[in-house]
Amino acid sequence: MAQIIDGKAISARIKDELKEEVARKKTEGKQITLAVIQVGNDPASTVYVGNKKKACAYIGIDSVSYELPEETSQDELLALIDKLNEDPKITGILVQLPVPDHIDEDIIIRKISPKKDVDGFHPMSVGALCIGEKGFVSCTPAGVIKLLEYSGIEIAGKECVVIGRSNIVGKPMALLLLRENGTVTVCHSKTKDLKEVCKRADILVVAIGRPKMINEEYIKDGAVVIDVGIHRMDNGRLCGDVDFDRVVDKCSAITPVPGGVGPMTIAMLMYNVVNAE
Ligand code: NDP
Repeated sequence: MAQIIDGKAISARIKDELKEEVARKKTEGKQITLAVIQVGNDPASTVYVGNKKKACAYIGIDSVSYELPEETSQDELLALIDKLNEDPKITGILVQLPVPDHIDEDIIIRKISPKKDVDGFHPMSVGALCIGEKGFVSCTPAGVIKLLEYSGIEIAGKECVVIGRSNIVGKPMALLLLRENGTVTVCHSKTKDLKEVCKRADILVVAIGRPKMINEEYIKDGAVVIDVGIHRMDNGRLCGDVDFDRVVDKCSAITPVPGGVGPMTIAMLMYNVVNAE
């Protein structure tokens, strides 16, 4: 029977550890404040922002939120980010994505000071990860590394295959596995014979954005399977990019959806906020 990696429990442990660290930092007179900006009122974004503010409150981080109307101009948003970049009380800045179409997401990401870039999306943060320097790391892939670490799964020397090469998941995931001394292969929509490549994996990380696409035919016996995907099915339930029921008996460990990678994203955001100086 495969080990079911419990992301909910691991994220709760991380949040409790961070809570203690924040309390300690406060006694040293350090102030931690996250600024959260939401433009427009996309319902999913409102839920995400609410969860992030709740996590801040639990850990003891102050958060200030800016709920801006849909018609906010790019210049207005840039001016707000400038102000927050300059404000010494603000230690982290998060702009909830996606922003409305009239605003260029890349320009917004580049405007946030790399010192306050708790999402880890700024090119300076990505570059630092690439050359092995200190910097913020994108939360979802950072969460995957923590899941493996807390589950006692060694990465060094393992064949690691990542399906997906997006800037926020696949690419930083590959860099992190490499940093942990895995032997890393990255797959994408042009990969030839995806099944054969996946079957080489001791650790398979799936971030493909296609519900239940990965079944037992892609899995080597005893592999560790990490499912980053998240989709709402017609019956209202959530599923991942991996067909859990078909894969679970073939692997040694697997993350469920929900309750696997998902809860780790907010925990790692909190980790970044607490560790922003
Ligand atoms: P993207 O759509 O940006 O990237 C998907 C990647 O998968 C691309 O690199 C694409 O290749 C590749 N791909 C698509 N189809 C195939 C295929 N048939 N064969 C091989 N590769 C393929 O997605 P994201 O990285 O943003 O997200 C991936 C998944 O993770 C989604 O389900 C998303 O909802 C979820 N997610 C979950 C989070 C969480 O907190 N749990 C956070 C972020 C994302 P190419 O580059 O060639 O197009």
